[in-house]
Amino acid sequence: MQNEETGHSMNSIVVTGGLGFIGSNFIRMVLGENLCDSVLNIDKQTYAGNPENLGDLELDPRYNFLKSDIGDSNKIDLAFRDFQPSSIVNFAAESHVDRSIDTPEPFVETNVLGTLRLLQSTKEYFSSLEDESKENFRFLHVSTDEVYGSLGKKDPAFCENTPYSPNSPYSASKAGADHLVRYYNHTFGLPTLTTNCSNNYGPYQFPEKLIPLITLNALEGKDLPIYGDGGNIRDWLHVEDHCRGILSVLEKGRVGETYCIGGDSEKTNLEVVDTICRSLDQFRPQNMPHEKLKTFVKDRPGHDQRYAIDFSKIKNELGWIPEYSFEEGMAQTIEWYLKHAEWCENVTTGKYQRERLGVE
Ligand code: NAD
Repeated sequence: MQNEETGHSMNSIVVTGGLGFIGSNFIRMVLGENLCDSVLNIDKQTYAGNPENLGDLELDPRYNFLKSDIGDSNKIDLAFRDFQPSSIVNFAAESHVDRSIDTPEPFVETNVLGTLRLLQSTKEYFSSLEDESKENFRFLHVSTDEVYGSLGKKDPAFCENTPYSPNSPYSASKAGADHLVRYYNHTFGLPTLTTNCSNNYGPYQFPEKLIPLITLNALEGKDLPIYGDGGNIRDWLHVEDHCRGILSVLEKGRVGETYCIGGDSEKTNLEVVDTICRSLDQFRPQNMPHEKLKTFVKDRPGHDQRYAIDFSKIKNELGWIPEYSFEEGMAQTIEWYLKHAEWCENVTTGKYQRERLGVE
């Protein structure tokens, strides 16, 4: 499929980490809207990789799955040779800050070493392409605003020029990956793009993250744990808006550049929890307001105070802006969790881990 404005075509996309939250939404969007001919999803199927996230595409001939670590160079080299991608979008990562504090090694292994090996495989593959395919090829690395550290209440929002200052093993490992991507562009001329995005929410998010955790706990009448005083601020973006941002960078972004993607929706954690409680009071009323379940727990060590994103660059250069307001996006998300009780149950009971999709 060709972008009319830029002539850039996306025939076959490799998506890594496509069984996770954002990757699965991305694959559903590109295939659902016929934006490319075929997708190869390469995923190691960690605890965060849920085949049910893409269960509806299992029989779609345009969807292909390979179970592999992004760092397994032999498998990845072969897959690239067979599939001949016109773009690679790298979502694969260990992504949960609390887990990174408990066990940092897998974060360095996947986010740093895995990304390095994936870049190496991509460079080999890229060098085998004809000139026209080289011209068209892109490697897009999906990163986070957490690489920029923490903001004070009145500080200006992060932008592409903000110095890196990561504070957790997760953000440090993502920062390392971003620098590796930069070096592959600068030193080897690999046509890379990087996006740094704020907190996502939406359908198919693993319930260890704030919004699905609070929603599912509230539905079960369990405590709603809130770190510290609940005053930490995050910028929230609906996952579909993030996926559209990634697509616009892939199609129109300037090679070698970084684009910050944000939702213009700064909220304290307490505001997020209150929004969920009010919504559930309306749609699933209980004998007491859900907010009574709020429980303040010991703060996360080194908890970043505030993230905010200035997304002027992607807006001015590529014309991207978020389509969902926080209120609309949250209403849609909570409705999705209410309607997908089976998905929620299979995730919370671990049933999804016993089911397997595709081939080794
Ligand atoms: P996720 O944890 O839901 O999914 C990660 C996926 O990667 C899983 O399917 C997992 O099986 C796979 N994976 C992990 N290690 C792998 C490896 N070594 N090889 C192959 N596959 C592997 O994560 P997510 O929330 O969908 O985030 C996707 C990407 O977006 C990550 O790179 C993350 O840093 C970035 N990001 C996330 C957010 C957010 O709010 N969730 C915000 C900004 C950026």
